[in-house]
Amino acid sequence: MNTPQSLFRPDLQSFSAYASAREEYTGKDAIFLDANENPFGKQNRYPDPLATELRLAIGKEKSLDPEKILLSNGSDEAIDLLVRIFCEPNKDTIVFCPPTFGMYKVAAKMNQVEVVEVPLKNNGASPAAKQLSISSSEACLTEKSWELDVNTLQQTTGKILFLCNPNNPTGNTQDPEVLKSILEVFPGIVVIDEAYIEFCAEESFLPFLERYPNLIILQTFSKYWGLAGARVGMCFANKKIIQMLRAFKAPYNVNALSQQAALQALEEKNQREKEKKQLLQERERIEIELKKNPFVQTIFPSKANFLFLQVKDADALYAYLKDNKVIIRNFHKKSGCDNCVRISVGSPGENNALLSLLQNFS
Ligand SMILES: *Cc1c(COP(=O)(O)O)cnc(C)c1O
Repeated sequence: MNTPQSLFRPDLQSFSAYASAREEYTGKDAIFLDANENPFGKQNRYPDPLATELRLAIGKEKSLDPEKILLSNGSDEAIDLLVRIFCEPNKDTIVFCPPTFGMYKVAAKMNQVEVVEVPLKNNGASPAAKQLSISSSEACLTEKSWELDVNTLQQTTGKILFLCNPNNPTGNTQDPEVLKSILEVFPGIVVIDEAYIEFCAEESFLPFLERYPNLIILQTFSKYWGLAGARVGMCFANKKIIQMLRAFKAPYNVNALSQQAALQALEEKNQREKEKKQLLQERERIEIELKKNPFVQTIFPSKANFLFLQVKDADALYAYLKDNKVIIRNFHKKSGCDNCVRISVGSPGENNALLSLLQNFS
């Protein structure tokens, strides 16, 4: 197997990174005349470039060595950084499995990196399954939908393979044994994006960082932790990869207010767990209500805080809801997603508004 180091962009390997003033002395009790800050004010100091206090707290929460953690300005920044440290423009390739999160492709395009798409197998929207859902009066739940195309993936090469688990927008998880079989044969880096992992019963792949040196895991404070506005992403990987990311990230990529907000969110975990329970109950309630609506054809089983469904006319539904100031995500134009929409689970009041609008629409 290739070591992660051998996969770095060759031209970056010998580069020594910019060391910010705040990285050289890490104590707090000195007179700081090293960074041209204004001595007055409340947010006058640069933040800790390595967010060490926050990394320690995350390490404790997840039983992980803080040296295997990099924090980013949202996962979006980590995705872009990963593409840049591993992929040579106009030479290397990334692989992902649509329909999935859009940022993998954006990061590739921005960096002139080729993309190879290995679509998920949508058994749920096959003609046979559709027939089934129409003939039974309720929308059907198809457990086998949106599985990875393992055979194709095992023959595909590239610098980075991005897998999203649970997947956005389809909401399903992949069999962990399948993920392991891919980790074992893929010649490059395998990134598992676990943005929604807290919402599902399946375990994170964090314990497998030891076993698979080519594994990188992304999580975020944007969903379960309720801090999308603060922009804090987490990247977990072996130390060599974390060192490389540190060397090329913007020095102060996670601001002081956001580091503080994330620390506080971790302290309020009991509250987050209560909110999660409520969200999952709400998801079930919406699902039951939506199933009764003849306009809804298929509701794909969700392991996250949203539902992905196929309706009779996604454009019409989207427009109707938007006219009534309820915004959902329309995937109708995406390949393999004919008439599919994604609906986030909101607060009980927001969900009631959605459901009552839907009662007047068919
Ligand atoms: C929401 C989401 C993220 C989080 O992105 P942030 O930049 O951390 O807000 C990452 N991956 C997926 C698949 C997501 O849906």
